[in-house]
Amino acid sequence: MPGRPIETGRMSAIISRSIARPKVDLCGFLPDEIADLLSPLDDTPYRGTQLFSWIQARRVTNFDEMTNLPASLREQLSRMFTISRMEPAEVLASEDGSSKLVFDVGDGSVSSVIMPSPERVTLCISSQVGCRMGCRFCLTGTMGRTRNLTPAEMVGQVLAASRLVEPPARVSNVVFMGMGEPLDNLDNVIQAIRIMTHREGLRVAPRRTTLSTVGLLPRLRDFLAAETGASIALSLCGTTDAQRTGMTPVGKKYGLEDTVKALRDMRLGHGHRYTVEYLLIRGHGDSVDDARRLSRMLAHFPSKVNLIPFNPWPGSPLQRPTNRAVEEFRRFLVGKNHLVTVRESRGIDIGAACGQLGKTSDGEID
Ligand code: SF4
Repeated sequence: MPGRPIETGRMSAIISRSIARPKVDLCGFLPDEIADLLSPLDDTPYRGTQLFSWIQARRVTNFDEMTNLPASLREQLSRMFTISRMEPAEVLASEDGSSKLVFDVGDGSVSSVIMPSPERVTLCISSQVGCRMGCRFCLTGTMGRTRNLTPAEMVGQVLAASRLVEPPARVSNVVFMGMGEPLDNLDNVIQAIRIMTHREGLRVAPRRTTLSTVGLLPRLRDFLAAETGASIALSLCGTTDAQRTGMTPVGKKYGLEDTVKALRDMRLGHGHRYTVEYLLIRGHGDSVDDARRLSRMLAHFPSKVNLIPFNPWPGSPLQRPTNRAVEEFRRFLVGKNHLVTVRESRGIDIGAACGQLGKTSDGEID
């Protein structure tokens, strides 16, 4: 069906408005939203999907390359819109095969980490420049928050990583575990997940998209209500409120008992288990007594436990637990029939492992 012709007067008004304002970045929109933005120019029903597919699936950033669009429309689009492209300022390769991508986003830097394995390619992305949650075990937590990333900036990290992954491999899993607390940037994160999981775009399976939170409970309810289908990981550090609040200030607002109860009461809606990412720090929540408390806490709670030994970073007084402590902790939980994995941290040599993203103690972005 041909697009509706636009009267010359209306067209000039649109164009003059667009000249006065910054161009809208189409990378942060879903097909229907792109169709709405385009409707004054062209209301062909499939146009939104067509553009979305060029941007997200074919990763095109120049309207001239969209050869199935009429030339006149391409010319109008390039006057009024833009398509951003996140280009890493630096790519650091680890000996273990992972890579850290560092992006300059104007008022700071954010990082993503590509972690390939024989079965999948996992990408850890950032959701904020810095973070205001202040977790003591996390380098990003020392920075404070500069700003939230836009949906285009989060999707842009996936597009950038996709350009670096050799086909037929592709980014199959996306985890929001980089810089930032994703629930502190709720609307943009929901939009980014909808874009990256769309069947006409990057096609990351919703279940293979994981949002990790320190436990912002009301926002978690809102996130679940949005029904993105993404998996949820709760990051825990300590098995008593005193231990946890010493490491994560959010624990003062939402205590452990309330957090676990709230999660138990919230239905994931798609038969999923929560992942509990339990951080093991030497002398802090890494004893067998802690394993026992954690086991009790998670009884009748649909969860699997991922144990994460702390990764030290310059300036932190905290230490990695001994291998023996990790093994005893794991064995105790397995003996109580919990599903347990120990996270093999990737990219330690390039400062890309969990908790290591952010500024180094000399103020440089690593
Ligand atoms: S662990 Fe997550 S929530 Fe806590 S400071 Fe680091 S980035 Fe923020």
